[in-house]
Amino acid sequence: MPRKRSRRAETVVLPAAKSLDHRPAPISPNDRRLNFGEKWSYAPAPEAHNYIQLKRRYQLFIGGKFVAPRSGKYFDSINPATEEKLAEIAEADARDIDLAVKAARRAYKSVWGKMPGRERGKFLYRVARLIQERSRELAVLETMDGGKTIKESRDIDLPLVAAHFFYYAGWADKLEYAFPGRTARPLGVAGQIIPWNFPLLMAAWKLAPALACGNTCVLKPAETTSITAMHLAEIFQEAGLPAGVVNIVTGAGETGKALVEHSDVDKIAFTGSTSVGKLLTQAVAGTKKDLTLELGGKAANIIFEDAPIDQAVEGIIAGIYFNQGHVCCAGSRLLVQEGVFPAVIRKLRDRIATLRVGNPLDKNTDIGAINSRMQLEKICQLVDSGLRQGAELVQSKALLPKKGYWYPPSFFTGVTESHRIAQEEIFGPVLSVMTFRTPEEAIERANNTPYGLSAGVWTDKGSKIFKIVSKLRAGIVWANTYNKFDPTSPFGGYKESGFGREGGRHGLMPYVMLN
Ligand code: NAD
Ligand code: MN
Repeated sequence: MPRKRSRRAETVVLPAAKSLDHRPAPISPNDRRLNFGEKWSYAPAPEAHNYIQLKRRYQLFIGGKFVAPRSGKYFDSINPATEEKLAEIAEADARDIDLAVKAARRAYKSVWGKMPGRERGKFLYRVARLIQERSRELAVLETMDGGKTIKESRDIDLPLVAAHFFYYAGWADKLEYAFPGRTARPLGVAGQIIPWNFPLLMAAWKLAPALACGNTCVLKPAETTSITAMHLAEIFQEAGLPAGVVNIVTGAGETGKALVEHSDVDKIAFTGSTSVGKLLTQAVAGTKKDLTLELGGKAANIIFEDAPIDQAVEGIIAGIYFNQGHVCCAGSRLLVQEGVFPAVIRKLRDRIATLRVGNPLDKNTDIGAINSRMQLEKICQLVDSGLRQGAELVQSKALLPKKGYWYPPSFFTGVTESHRIAQEEIFGPVLSVMTFRTPEEAIERANNTPYGLSAGVWTDKGSKIFKIVSKLRAGIVWANTYNKFDPTSPFGGYKESGFGREGGRHGLMPYVMLN
């Protein structure tokens, strides 16, 4: 059934893009360019959310209890797809942080730090099972608060969240095998700060290994996506996790800063922007605190002439339009070997025109809402810079909903290495396409970035994969696939993408002292 045009035939108003009109134009019925809207539209298939119990206000989770912030201040969390307020979130200040760190220290000294690993493991298994039981509800909440599609929160985020708890539950009583011949001891209290792109998954990446190793935690979610973390807190209560083992404090940068500066924190783990990462490096220098950073990326996805092109184009689509491009390891630079450039561009063009942008709770939606107005403005600014510096933009003419924050799937051609869009993280559904002639040139271009988080290689030849991969300065390289995650596999970057690994046996290392 074709969608009724009257309901959604609105053009997007992109706040930052006044001077250059690259916004999707209204579609005329005769316009066949990049407009498969009618042909490809599906009947609405919205995920039910009427059973979701949102609280009017979410408090802080400290010492096993939900408590009001000392300041009495709250801020709103909105649904970026509708701009509706979902709930009020407590704003923690330095006094609340102090209470949370004290609760974590008490729990560390009195129970968790000395509990045998096999007992800690039981709690983690219980948490993992409760997450699985409530995974649909958590996926819907994740989509409502953050804007990501239900397809992803349901099929990617939540299964991985549970898998991380299961995986690290398994290590809790086997640390002597993780580090043969050495004794692994916990560090103490870990302060953990996470971003908004994978709210629950980042919480799991941080909490599960820290707890498995016997540390206690103070977690700070991102200010636009705190709700699911507070539902996770309920799961910790339900699992009977001893009070204070996990504390969750909400708020923005100031709250995070207070956590980093607290004198009784032993370790800071951070995922987010490189600029904040640099601030944290300065803040912990000269203190007893350990630090791990997982920062941005500007990954190169390299397509060789011998690659299976259709498969590669699908991988590129998944690599950059997946999760609205809100992925630090997104394949945001595409390097295409010259001989296949026209074919790849033609296929990409056709394919982005079929991507469905809109209601993230609809099961058929491919690209949901941009997480916040601020992020949308940042995307628009970078796209403007690309146009000003002379690159050409190809953009889907998908009809965008009137309310909410949206950006249509887009890519740039004619990009040179000095363009900002080739160097900076756009963190949106925008790809920069460049070409290369030889494998050496591909490697040089791929490595020509201050980042070093991830990369992708597409070729028919296994030997070429190994040759290229060994020369790429990236923590993760996918070959003939992209954006695949598994709790057993370490993740992390080189250079300005940070240091320390999360996931796998490596992911235990940042949370132990080895003797
Ligand atoms: P950010 O780095 O500002 O925020 C990440 C987390 O750090 C949030 O919880 C935030 O509240 C907290 N924070 C902010 N300032 C802090 C400070 N001074 N001390 C301690 N904690 C602080 O990222 P953002 O503003 O949400 O996004 C900006 C850019 O960061 C994005 O456009 C993107 O390029 C990048 N980013 C990267 C990732 C990633 O996974 N690597 C995730 C989200 C955003
Ligand atoms: Mn929100």
